[in-house]
Amino acid sequence: VEETLVLVKPDGVARNLTGEILRRIEAKGYSLVDVRMLQADRDLLAKHYAEHEGKPFYEPLVEFMESGPIVALRVAGNRVIEGFRSLAGATDPTTAAPGTIRGDLARDWGLKVQQNLVHGSDSPESAQRELALWFD
Ligand code: ATP
Repeated sequence: VEETLVLVKPDGVARNLTGEILRRIEAKGYSLVDVRMLQADRDLLAKHYAEHEGKPFYEPLVEFMESGPIVALRVAGNRVIEGFRSLAGATDPTTAAPGTIRGDLARDWGLKVQQNLVHGSDSPESAQRELALWFD
């Protein structure tokens, strides 16, 4: 069975939306395999976001992600990688479709980084790499 890494980012935890996000994942039919709450350090975040190094939002993104606790979820189900990204909605919460996590629950706060509540792996290779980073 396919697995993906979902992160409830610091904005999601701070806004007490962890339960609502987990509810949507479970209501869709996916299974929670493992869960972990942690404060991510720079080393972990640098590895997680290696592909974004050098982009203008990289530093604000890392600062945001280390600003508070994160809930990491190992989620399983057929085509869960694609399915969770569909549940999450577009990266930009302003234009993310209503009905999605970001479309319903997030907005633009005028910051340098888009605070969009969740992360989901974008391919089987990323999922494997990211699950190893956050759960080993
Ligand atoms: P998607 O792949 O659907 O875009 P994602 O969460 O995987 O969603 P990435 O492109 O991997 O998005 O970017 C990682 C994170 O960096 C985003 O979730 C968002 O918080 C932030 N981000 C991405 N692009 C921008 C941007 N142009 N301006 C500000 N923050 C951004």
